Amino acid sequence: MPLAAVLAAVLPAFLLAAEPQPRPSEEHAAELYQRGEYEACRAECVRALQRNLYGEDWPLLKARAELARGRYRAAHATVEEGLKRYSWSIRLRRLAIITSRFTGREELAARYRNEILELAERYTWRYTDSDNLVALGWTMLESGTDAAEVLERYFQRAQKSYPKSPVGFVAAAELALRKSDDSLASEIVTAARREFPDDTELLHLRARIAARSDRKHFAATAADVLRHNPNHVPTLRLLAQDAIDREQYGTAREHLERALQTNPLDPDCWALLAVLAELQNDPRGAAICRDRALSRWTRNPRVDHLIGRKLSQKYRFAEGAAAQQRALELDPHFVPARIQLAEDLLRLGDEERGWQLAEDAFAQDRYDLTAFNLLELHDRLQRFATIGDEHFLVRMDRGEADVYGSEVLELLNRARSVLAEKYGVQPAEPVIVEIFSDPDDFAVRTFGLPGASGYLGVCFGRVITANSPLAHRDTPANWHSVLWHEYAHVITLQATANRIPRWFSEGISVYEERQADSRWGMRMNAAHRRRILEQGVPPISELSSLFLTARSGADVAFAYYVSSLAVEFLIERHGPASVRAVLNDLRDGLPVEVALNRRMAPPAELDTHFAEFARWRAAAYAPDADWSVPDLAALLNDDGDALQTWLQQHPNNVAALKAATRQALDNDDAATARKYAERLIRLVPEDTDSPDNGYRLLARATRLAGDAAAERAVLEQWAQRGDAPVEPLRKLLEDALPQLDPAARRTIGDDDTPQVPQHLTALARQTAVWAARLRQVDPMLPIVHRSAAAAALLLNDRPAAVRALQALTHLQPEDPAEVHYALAWLLQTTDRAAARRHVLLALEQAPRFRAALRLLRQIHREAGPADARAGRAESTRR
Ligand SMILES: [Zn+2]
Repeated sequence: MPLAAVLAAVLPAFLLAAEPQPRPSEEHAAELYQRGEYEACRAECVRALQRNLYGEDWPLLKARAELARGRYRAAHATVEEGLKRYSWSIRLRRLAIITSRFTGREELAARYRNEILELAERYTWRYTDSDNLVALGWTMLESGTDAAEVLERYFQRAQKSYPKSPVGFVAAAELALRKSDDSLASEIVTAARREFPDDTELLHLRARIAARSDRKHFAATAADVLRHNPNHVPTLRLLAQDAIDREQYGTAREHLERALQTNPLDPDCWALLAVLAELQNDPRGAAICRDRALSRWTRNPRVDHLIGRKLSQKYRFAEGAAAQQRALELDPHFVPARIQLAEDLLRLGDEERGWQLAEDAFAQDRYDLTAFNLLELHDRLQRFATIGDEHFLVRMDRGEADVYGSEVLELLNRARSVLAEKYGVQPAEPVIVEIFSDPDDFAVRTFGLPGASGYLGVCFGRVITANSPLAHRDTPANWHSVLWHEYAHVITLQATANRIPRWFSEGISVYEERQADSRWGMRMNAAHRRRILEQGVPPISELSSLFLTARSGADVAFAYYVSSLAVEFLIERHGPASVRAVLNDLRDGLPVEVALNRRMAPPAELDTHFAEFARWRAAAYAPDADWSVPDLAALLNDDGDALQTWLQQHPNNVAALKAATRQALDNDDAATARKYAERLIRLVPEDTDSPDNGYRLLARATRLAGDAAAERAVLEQWAQRGDAPVEPLRKLLEDALPQLDPAARRTIGDDDTPQVPQHLTALARQTAVWAARLRQVDPMLPIVHRSAAAAALLLNDRPAAVRALQALTHLQPEDPAEVHYALAWLLQTTDRAAARRHVLLALEQAPRFRAALRLLRQIHREAGPADARAGRAESTRR
């Protein structure tokens, strides 16, 4: 029985009526507010105010509880009433600024702000506690004080002087987050957590930081806030945003509806509902939601800023930019909208306006890291080389452009001619392609902030950014396939006006990589196989989620692979024309499930068939291999030959074969190692990438046996199958070069067609292919160009030799004089000016280089007197 009922049962009625209510306590009221019991909190405040209890916290807390419920008029009245008694309060005035705006009295907001500044100036001594320092800090910031100064003089001072109050920490972290300084925000919140483990605002800030940089822990941190305060509207909004990012629009709506139960007028909730409507092609609904968001504070720039930011995150940059422009019309001083607009325009390829806005934003706010980083990048981009034609504008590091810039352009044009036709798209051009050798530059250009890693390239529709091969030498990737993938995004993004789900866009890009070259793109491997056979594939509608909820590199790889498998399934079952039709429907604004249903089959049916297709594909991978994992430690530790015996009974067990090969290699038993490695390759010929794949093990075994021919054969096989097989290709080229080089050098200076022994011609042909393939992975390796040049000279392929030698001149060759002389000799009949330039460069390196002197004389003789004078003029200018 509850206590009140017990009392009612035993006490006379008059005693009950007189039972005194406990005196309202500020701590209790604040606690109720923290827990999200806003009505109870308000009631407590009302009781206190009725009793005339002293303290500005009572009206403050009452107004905050009313604001949390969207009762703006009541809150405004509370604040004004409070100010009658506490006329000196700047904290009440801070709230009054908000309540004035939300009750259509914008002009009052400015008045309250000026009053705060006056009071603070007149009675400095009065406002030095943490709450007042924070209130003052925000006011100073809004009045144009530098953010760094506000942080130090107000918020950090509040932190240091009042370490027992969380407000200084909350304000400092909030400001850092607003300025994109996530690491500072995280530092502050972590430090404060020990002291205030239950503070809702600090918990919420933690969730916000996680939402931006630590997706793995976001769900847990958000749940933590809601455990403390189930009605915490900002956290529910954060969850909605996360669901929008994962394309889980139904879930997003649920979170928002729950938040609106607490505050039916919350502008950010309505802004997010507008985003949902926009994403579901309901412009009328979007307009209604936006109106609702602006119904109380009509010039609130945050509404359009938020709408635009979410649309941009969905790659809807044009609509996003329009929203930022609306935000700036409502409030021209709202810097976040200006920065976001700058980024949007840069992603749309409208560079001139984009950079100008970044500069304007920085002039307005020198603490904002995004603007600062963008301007730093802009300076560095000035030093990049720009190459291009009518379809592409490529910017890259000068040193790299000299070596493989023209190949980039060729590849992009090839992708364009294949993909634009295939999908029937006339892309807006020129497409801008920026290739960065510094991963931080790539990250700033792509995400606005340095530090993001793991991306090879990103495409925004008309702008592609990519990391250069130099940026990820330790994890080699094929840059041809990377750019092909990104260009496929250009096509699908433009085909749909950027209205394409993530899985579909990535799926098509990876699929098109494989179509262009069967070695490119993600392929089935042991990990994908196991995942599909053990857990199946998710429904198509959940594929996009995989990208955001990935907890490891393997998860991300699976997201890409399984998306590409879904596309492959759709194309195989329903034909490329229906995929194009779906893209057109998406452009017209149809949700993807509707388009798939219309052009292919109902979603449930597609899901069932896709699951079968994936299972079948997985089962077809290395069908004879036994993937079970035996207790290898026990087998290996056995003194006898337990592993060998076990293998006799399980001859196709992959894990045991690898272990046995390694064991044999360690024991210098080449014959046994070879036997097992060969069996591994037979069982899983597709595996070229895992650390102890059959090829690598067999190469070691053949080397151990001293069988050079067999080693070369396996390296060739390995190189032939891999997507970025740097290891075998390098080895093959390093072995071939000493064989080719002497004969290749002899061809220079000899005007007759070279007489090359047959075995060298065959090797030269293969070398040319290997060099071209390694150039697709690491074009800045000198061996690539040296071996390509030697092969081309022996094959009498002069254009290829010139190209390779020219690349080599930019890679600090050991023998620059010889390289320039060879170029001069090759170019003497086709480009005499270039030939003369190179021969002079050779002589500059080696003034007594006889053959070069002879060649120079010969060039001058053939050029005649006029040309020769020009030559001398050039040589003296140097
Ligand atoms: Zn992609």
